[in-house]
Amino acid sequence: MADPTRLHAHEMAALLRAGDLSARALTEAHLDAAERDNRALHAWLTIDRARALEEADAADARIVAARADGAAALARLPALLGIPVALKDLVSVAGGQCTAGSRILEGYRSPYDAHITERLREAGAVILGKTNMDEFAMGSSTEHSAFGPTANPWALDRVPGGSSGGSAVAVAAFHAPLSIGTDTGGSIRQPAALCGVVGMKPTYGRVSRYGIVAFASSLDQIGPFARDVRDAGALLHAIAGRDDRDSTSSPVPVPAALGNLPAGDDEAAATLRGKRFGMPREYFVAGMEPAVEARVREAVAALEAAGATVEDVSLPHTDYGLATYYIVAPAEASANLARYDGVRFGLQRRDGDVLANYLATRGAGFGDEVKRRVMLGTYALSAGYYDAYYLKAQKVRTLIKGDFDALWAQGFDALVAPTSPTVAFPFGARMDDPVAMYLSDACTLPVNMAGLPGVSVPCGLAEGLPVGLQLIGAAWSEAELLGLARGYEAITAGAAWRSLEPADLARAADPSTPAPGARAA
Ligand code: GLN
Repeated sequence: MADPTRLHAHEMAALLRAGDLSARALTEAHLDAAERDNRALHAWLTIDRARALEEADAADARIVAARADGAAALARLPALLGIPVALKDLVSVAGGQCTAGSRILEGYRSPYDAHITERLREAGAVILGKTNMDEFAMGSSTEHSAFGPTANPWALDRVPGGSSGGSAVAVAAFHAPLSIGTDTGGSIRQPAALCGVVGMKPTYGRVSRYGIVAFASSLDQIGPFARDVRDAGALLHAIAGRDDRDSTSSPVPVPAALGNLPAGDDEAAATLRGKRFGMPREYFVAGMEPAVEARVREAVAALEAAGATVEDVSLPHTDYGLATYYIVAPAEASANLARYDGVRFGLQRRDGDVLANYLATRGAGFGDEVKRRVMLGTYALSAGYYDAYYLKAQKVRTLIKGDFDALWAQGFDALVAPTSPTVAFPFGARMDDPVAMYLSDACTLPVNMAGLPGVSVPCGLAEGLPVGLQLIGAAWSEAELLGLARGYEAITAGAAWRSLEPADLARAADPSTPAPGARAA
């Protein structure tokens, strides 16, 4: 058979059930690719071959037993049985490392499974390992990982985006058909765009955050990466839903349609007919690359040709998204990160009394960007400044949400916008200028501030690098939103760029290619 890593998860599932592929062979092929490329790409912080193969063998045993029991038993098997999945290294897996990309959590082992880890196990997924990320998910390039950067398989001298860069690359480079990321201000959608894969941030509350290392608790959401929209829907379906251990997780029912998006392109394309999209003019920001804008406008034209209408709309408070996010997110981070005290988790520096130990541990364990956020957040929350900064930012946040609500009230089905104003940028380009790095997320941050679902789908290439199209929906509309994304995928199924693989995959597989850290230096 041809290389099974090139298949979509739904194709793998069909072959597994038919007995034409074993979960062991499938898992080995992915582990081999991940290990081979990890020097050049550095997408993975750990690859757990032994455990993954055990899980694959267990999946094979279940499939063999079900086949003996007949078609009904096969049909009852869980959707992700035997399918390899990568987890961002902030998802707890009992007994495994969970660094969140930070030295301060080096050596820490998770005492329990995250809610989504339990759900993935119930769904039969094979967990291959943990992926690289910006420290505590703070960043847009994965260069803020304490363990060195991840490279983009489309151009090894460029970043994959962040903070979930490792998870995006794992899927783009065929190390796994599915992966998990988190998105606080864009960290799923932006790396999905820069790596040419599908990535979704669900509605706030759709997925339990229990067992996920917290960054900014009112913004963090967990979501899927995949190489097509159906697979992204199936992964979200497996992890979504109420969990009593996260009081912000919602009891809103998880629609079955999420796991069952249209397979046929004609049916998928038909869902676009008569749909009404808004195109927020504020998302075509100054500094946007012309070729990125061109791809987005071509995508809009394709939606119109398929029978949708696209109207210019305004989200007038968009400009405040960045400023208010960089009050709210650091404020919440400063509170969440107070727990890394050199006593309870990971790194411990002993320098004298309790305060000296605390300062020494945090001084050695946190990187510069994390320290910057802790200082900003502590300042914004301190007496005398709380009202002027944090409270004010929360009020402006309500206005940002109100902009979106006004459009839903006018009957728009979804909004269409760029995901990132630029393609993947070279290593180092934004490292000396934090504000330039922050601007990478101008088009994604407002969606987190409003708690809405957003998805990035590939919409072509600009100078050989992927461009992402962002679709934004009303709260809890993930199934409809992915239906529209699936429609867009269907109407562009024949596009030449869809059949291209990342240009630097061969170099990534070459053992003489140096590590991204060495190249970045
Ligand atoms: N890049 C943004 C930040 O640095 C968003 C990160 C994220 O979504 N985790 O905060």
